[in-house]
Amino acid sequence: MYDMIIIGAGPAGLSAAVYGQRGGKKTLILDEKGYGGQIINTPEVENYPGIKSVSGFQLASQMYEQATELGAELVFEKAVQVIDEGRKKVVKTQNGQYEAKTVIFATGAKNRPLGLEREEQLTGAGISYCATCDGAFFRNKDVAVIGGGNTALEDAEVLAGIANKVYLIHRRDTFRGDTANVKRLLSKDNVVILLDTVPEELMGEHRVTGLRVRNVKTGEERQIEVSGVFVAIGQIPDNKAFENVAALDQSGYIKADESCMTERPGIFTAGDCRTKKVRQLATAAADGAVAALAAIEYMNGL
Ligand code: NAP
Repeated sequence: MYDMIIIGAGPAGLSAAVYGQRGGKKTLILDEKGYGGQIINTPEVENYPGIKSVSGFQLASQMYEQATELGAELVFEKAVQVIDEGRKKVVKTQNGQYEAKTVIFATGAKNRPLGLEREEQLTGAGISYCATCDGAFFRNKDVAVIGGGNTALEDAEVLAGIANKVYLIHRRDTFRGDTANVKRLLSKDNVVILLDTVPEELMGEHRVTGLRVRNVKTGEERQIEVSGVFVAIGQIPDNKAFENVAALDQSGYIKADESCMTERPGIFTAGDCRTKKVRQLATAAADGAVAALAAIEYMNGL
């Protein structure tokens, strides 16, 4: 029986594990894929207080080492169901089950798909959701990045250093991402920015060969020849399997305020998976601390 089971080994989950173990609680982290969450795909993190610049992978590795050296256990299994039996919570995975006094959902969010026909089929054959992971496959080729947030801006910058030409396609005429990122991108000769533009159709039968796009203001359509399309249009939560124990908001995020407590005693949530305004690395780590401390307080009162 664990004191705390944390579902998700991203910055929120790892931070919760550090606070759990330091609070003397036996902590298990479950994650389907690996540790680090979304941050491992960020080439450079420059906004984590106290660290001027670090790669996302390096920062995630340090968080992982910190949590496990303190004694947290990390098991790579996908949590598929949580059953609340009052003082005992049962977490079922694809391989078995674990029990704990408390559960912290730190499930993060997954990439939002464009919703275009054959998008899934062409994923890995020209469609990618991670420029850092797949950019090297497009050396000296033409690629498109879709989105107007910081991820899209950073992806376009990374790809500008690898690909021949990068089209950055955004549905509005102003960017959601930081001005500093936009400025850096505007200085690149091989970046073409298409504003007020949305992708309509993926071209190519077995591999992406192009993209048909439409200007939303003029209605004009054109086809651009690209061998890669990098999708960076934000994230969506993945909490459906747990709605029996954690109420979700309209968008599927777990309902909880800054206290990170759900309506159910002993069930907490942290990071991008919960209802919140600011989803940043620093706020995810902060949530992990808040959720773990709330869980410890709850256990001390049992
Ligand atoms: P985001 O900020 O939510 O931006 C998503 C972008 O995709 C928006 O520009 C949005 O357009 C566009 N979009 C959404 N749905 C679309 C659709 N169906 N078709 C076309 N475009 C669509 O997501 P993000 O860029 O992944 O960033 C997520 C969070 O992580 C943000 O808080 C961001 O600041 C943070 N982040 C920080 C850093 C960093 O600081 N180093 C790096 C990466 C990400 P609209 O603007 O029109 O809504």
